[in-house]
Amino acid sequence: MNTKERDAAYVAGTYKRFPLEIVSGKGSLVYDETGKEYIDLGSGIAVTSFGVADAIWQRAVTQQISQVQHMSNLYYTAPCGKLAEMLCRRTGMKKVFFSNSGAESNECAIKAARKYAAETHGPDCFTIVTLKNSFHGRTLTTLAATGQEHYHELFRPLTPGFAHVTAGDIEELTALAETTKIAGVLIECVQGEGGVVPLDKAYVQALAAFCRERDILLMVDEVQTGNGRTGQLYAYMHYGIQPDIVSTAKGLAGGLPLGATLLGDKVENVLGYGDHGSTFGGNPVCCAAAVSVLERIDENLLSQVRQKSEYLFSTFTGAEGIEAVTGLGLMIGLKTKKPAGQMVADCMENGVLCLTAKEKVRLLPALNIPMDTLQKAAEIILRSCADGR
Ligand SMILES: *Cc1c(COP(=O)(O)O)cnc(C)c1O
Repeated sequence: MNTKERDAAYVAGTYKRFPLEIVSGKGSLVYDETGKEYIDLGSGIAVTSFGVADAIWQRAVTQQISQVQHMSNLYYTAPCGKLAEMLCRRTGMKKVFFSNSGAESNECAIKAARKYAAETHGPDCFTIVTLKNSFHGRTLTTLAATGQEHYHELFRPLTPGFAHVTAGDIEELTALAETTKIAGVLIECVQGEGGVVPLDKAYVQALAAFCRERDILLMVDEVQTGNGRTGQLYAYMHYGIQPDIVSTAKGLAGGLPLGATLLGDKVENVLGYGDHGSTFGGNPVCCAAAVSVLERIDENLLSQVRQKSEYLFSTFTGAEGIEAVTGLGLMIGLKTKKPAGQMVADCMENGVLCLTAKEKVRLLPALNIPMDTLQKAAEIILRSCADGR
């Protein structure tokens, strides 16, 4: 059997894969089994922050692997504390819990919010409010948090204690607070899986004020938007707010599994001995990778992300076959005349890997994609939109 046949025979059928086997890569270029080259604008869904097989990232990982790859959380290892310190210093948050994925980083946020609210406001204060069209993960609890019915259908009963309100409608949330004790509100500043939809700044600020007045925890899911993706270290930094809890994962370790839940002033000591845990959480190799990723996300890199974003917005806005451009930084959604699935297939044939998000084409290039590579990819996308193929 070849790779595709073996996969079809033995791997659970949860993924509709593209008919493409990637065997290697360098930076923003990847190669399939025939040696054909592609410009990668998906980055493993916002994971490979500095592209594939990046030399600095490789050095950080192999150096740590050659020292010790895992010791469990029964012992100290240096990269874990070093990364936590970096995250806290750059966000103003106070403590970090490490896990292995986005869903788990949200799970920890939800547990921390529930414990804080129960201790502070009583055991009937547990409801977590999220937004319609949101995505927060695939575990039963983070599915319950996800404000899209179609993800729920086959898996009821989900974890109780979640409510969903319309993004942009602060009255709906205020009305809900009349009847329901709310422990926390969890938002994505840019809804990623929901179609690359940035939240309105005035709404987010009103939401933050609403939470502050009522001692409701403001939680921001930065799993996709975090770690430089939007042109700030975290997307909430565009919005002039200070969350109580931030969850992140995807791009944090540049291609190794690592989730982090950042806890602010109010909740820094909420989780005590035995309240939460993860065997792999804070793994030294993943943390060493993340330290090297964060060290490189400085103001210079962030300004390059913003410049490349401006280039993409100005190139695509009003172009033939493109109806709308949405997003923030290097997290871009294109509403194209051609169906998004067809666009992705055409681009792939022409050597560019894109993603979809709902009805849009979604672009999540490496943060350091060279400008000429980005230009070449943009030209191929423009041609596909205008349908020269
Ligand atoms: C991808 C994503 C998740 C889930 O992350 P996993 O690592 O797949 O568990 C959660 N929230 C947001 C906003 C995401 O984009």
